[in-house]
Amino acid sequence: MADTRMHNFIGGSWKTSSKSTWFDARNPADPDDVIGTFPQSSAEDVQEAVDSADRAFPTWRDAGLVKRAEYLLRVARLMEEETESLARIVAREAGKQINEARADVIEAIHTAQYAFSYGHLGQYGRVLADEIPTKRCYEVLEPRGVVVSITPWNFPIALPFWLTGLALVLGNCVILKPSEYTPMCGAKIAGYFEKAGIPPGVFQVLHGTGEAVGAPLVGHPKTHVILFTGSYEVGARIKQEVAKHADKVCTIETGGKNAILILDDANMDMAVAASVLSAFKTAGQRCVTAGRLLVDERIATAFADRFVAAARRVKVGNPMDEDVFYGTMINGQGVEKGRRFNALAKQEGFDVLLDRNTEPLPTEHGYWLRPFVYRGTWRRDSVCLTEEAFSPHVAIVPVRGLEEAVAVYNDTKYGLSGAVITEDYRKAKYAEEHMRCGIFYWNLPCIGAGVRLPFGGVKQSGNLIPSAAGLIPVLTHPKAITYNLDTKIMMAQGLKADIQ
Ligand code: NAD
Repeated sequence: MADTRMHNFIGGSWKTSSKSTWFDARNPADPDDVIGTFPQSSAEDVQEAVDSADRAFPTWRDAGLVKRAEYLLRVARLMEEETESLARIVAREAGKQINEARADVIEAIHTAQYAFSYGHLGQYGRVLADEIPTKRCYEVLEPRGVVVSITPWNFPIALPFWLTGLALVLGNCVILKPSEYTPMCGAKIAGYFEKAGIPPGVFQVLHGTGEAVGAPLVGHPKTHVILFTGSYEVGARIKQEVAKHADKVCTIETGGKNAILILDDANMDMAVAASVLSAFKTAGQRCVTAGRLLVDERIATAFADRFVAAARRVKVGNPMDEDVFYGTMINGQGVEKGRRFNALAKQEGFDVLLDRNTEPLPTEHGYWLRPFVYRGTWRRDSVCLTEEAFSPHVAIVPVRGLEEAVAVYNDTKYGLSGAVITEDYRKAKYAEEHMRCGIFYWNLPCIGAGVRLPFGGVKQSGNLIPSAAGLIPVLTHPKAITYNLDTKIMMAQGLKADIQ
């Protein structure tokens, strides 16, 4: 059998982990299919990567914005050449249907292109006025140092680029800790940076679990910025650790219990399509998945009939098939969690409108879940209505009019994404202004992201520091600079400069 052993990318080369334990990346549609074997990195590996980043930082910082940006363009071009093969790796490793996998790769290419363009826009900071007209004031955005990017499995190519592209262009060195469920995607990314000739230590990839690799990187005294995307539980722990260090900042992008509001004047075709996409794409394993469809009670039954009919047609199967709607769950725990939520909906007394989990599985040993739809009155003490199921599990909740729909939307601890389906722009505007979320859509599904807009949530969905283009203030600190063009010293606020 061919040796499928992969390595960390540290200090510009592929290094065998100092500890000889390994883990397999497996295909969730066929867990006997081993995609690669990866090192479970140790504390020594973490130390080596941090030291290497620390050494590389001064030269990288001084290389300048334009020069640094060029590497991102090279990486984008390499990914463009391999879009199809890379998408197949995403589908095989993450179980994402091939069209979704391709979109993941294209989003990463766009992010790398965006980061490159930022270098040429040359936005180093602002020039500002001063009370004393002969003073020149400006700010320079200085890189913070060593950035740790910790990413989840569900956007295994796009998210690492959100959390590395601008970080690098702005002059930081980055250590990426990809999800242990999608290490091959992480290794491919390291390969593109290697081919692009990134200087040793500027971009590195360390494999392993969150406990063994993520936590020591977060707590390391020489790491300065932690960019985390993943579950709330881990994000909260990261925030606590970061709070112990005076010179460390973090962003956490976490989960949601998102919803689509479907008002009584909604275009029904649009409402059904937006709801199916939001509830079931990626088998419901998106942070922005809609677990709740808040439907005006006057159209709730008509909507439910059409939505259930559409959910019945959703094709679940081999992620490599172009005509499948969604692929697998990521692993056995994902299946278990989804099943637990489905069982909870029954225990909590809701009406189950559709449970397709009695249909035969696409493969015997793969990790599959089929659509589950239930209906019931809003109850804030219901676990399945208020917690993230991260599976194709969705509730139809009848509501009385726009204001109640918005109040129900806001009645969870999360606030990531939301959408409203209505033909009335005034109602859409009301929803936009009153829904407590970070990402809002009108007459669209509540999924989708682009690097140009910020991406993040309020409340328990994140710490209000959005990803992608929104990250610039976290990746840099503004240095305030004042030059005096006069021959004497003049102070602001009436402060006398005379030496008496
Ligand atoms: P997860 O929290 O289990 O893991 C995410 C990453 O954190 C992985 O790389 C993991 O190894 C690492 N990690 C785990 N424990 C750690 C620790 N103690 N210290 C440091 N790192 C640690 O999440 P997941 O299952 O990979 O992804 C699913 C979750 O991610 C869902 O809750 C989803 O909503 C969320 N998500 C959020 C966004 C967003 O932008 N808000 C986007 C995608 C996914």
